[in-house]
Amino acid sequence: MTRKLYWEQPYSKEFTGKVVSLYGDRVELDQTLFYPRGGGVSFDKGVLGSVKVVETTKDGDRILHTLEAQSTFQNGQTLTGRVDWDRRHRLMRMHTAGHLLSALFYSRANCRITGNQIDVDRSRMDFDLEAFDRSQIEKFVEEGNRLISNDAPVKTYFLDRKEALKLPEMVKLAEAAPPADDKLRIVEITGIDRQADGGLHVAHLKEIGKIQLLKLENKGKTNRRLYYDVVGE
Ligand SMILES: [Zn+2]
Repeated sequence: MTRKLYWEQPYSKEFTGKVVSLYGDRVELDQTLFYPRGGGVSFDKGVLGSVKVVETTKDGDRILHTLEAQSTFQNGQTLTGRVDWDRRHRLMRMHTAGHLLSALFYSRANCRITGNQIDVDRSRMDFDLEAFDRSQIEKFVEEGNRLISNDAPVKTYFLDRKEALKLPEMVKLAEAAPPADDKLRIVEITGIDRQADGGLHVAHLKEIGKIQLLKLENKGKTNRRLYYDVVGE
């Protein structure tokens, strides 16, 4: 099981880890700051030793770093890793922005998020909304931007699964239930939103900058799709 340094120190950019196994161009370390693809969120890139990491993925409990080229790394070797911080910080901003929007959709229109794709260039959110009312959705984004400029701390902590699931607002994703762990990791935008989530977030709403609505699509029936970006900061 890879120790998730990215949960412990989401703002650290450099770490050392020991090679646990090697699979062709993929390396597993005992611990890592690299966030693996998961839950609709894109992954970290960066450098291990002097070799580029082009993708980070999860394989059960293990986190695998895919290298740009075969390496001469050896089992037991200690490597220094550096996360591509520009990419990572954009993903954190995009992700917190997604939680903020989903909280507004849920509390204002009782609408559920059915899918999401948090990425560097733009992010996507699918949701269930009866009426396709462009101006209503634009208002949610405006309200989100007001909340960002008012700022609020974003905290992460662990709760007992049983306790957490008693809270009705806890799992907003209609189709993705949290994994069956005893403890659930909670991401809370103070006073606004609380969700079970394994992702990385900014520590303060203000860091998001501004949410820009890029495109709205009507996917028929009650399915809507929104594309957004984060700008400024
Ligand atoms: Zn999330």
